[in-house]
Amino acid sequence: MDFVTNDNPFAGRVICGCCGSTFGRKVCNSIDERLKRTIWQCNSKYKVKGKIGCGNRHINEKVLYQVFVDAFNELVKNIDYYMTKWEKQIESEDILERVTAKRFINVFNETKPIENFDAGLYFKLVEKIMVYEDGISVELLDGSEIKCA
Ligand SMILES: [Zn+2]
Repeated sequence: MDFVTNDNPFAGRVICGCCGSTFGRKVCNSIDERLKRTIWQCNSKYKVKGKIGCGNRHINEKVLYQVFVDAFNELVKNIDYYMTKWEKQIESEDILERVTAKRFINVFNETKPIENFDAGLYFKLVEKIMVYEDGISVELLDGSEIKCA
């Protein structure tokens, strides 16, 4: 059974790197609390009855939260590189690119590494999360892509 809620930060934003479908949320219940978990899997996994669907792996929701924290901290670590990029984008003829670059500069002007997921930052920065068989990549609204193993 799939449960997708609109207020979940990953709804519609986690994309399968194998087939391009979105990932859906699935809660695996268990009488044993320790075995209870929430995973995300490709919506094309069981698309056609009797046929093998997309073979991409599923991912634990906890991992998705951690991936954003890691990606964010990766940006903070290389902030000089990204600031230079955004300062160039501010000169762009594309208004959307200019607005986005300005927003990113504001966000990172006084930012330190984070330890926990921050939904406010997430929605300001992330366009989508691509799940590949061998890794995850966070794609940001400014066009940057941050790969996580
Ligand atoms: Zn897929």
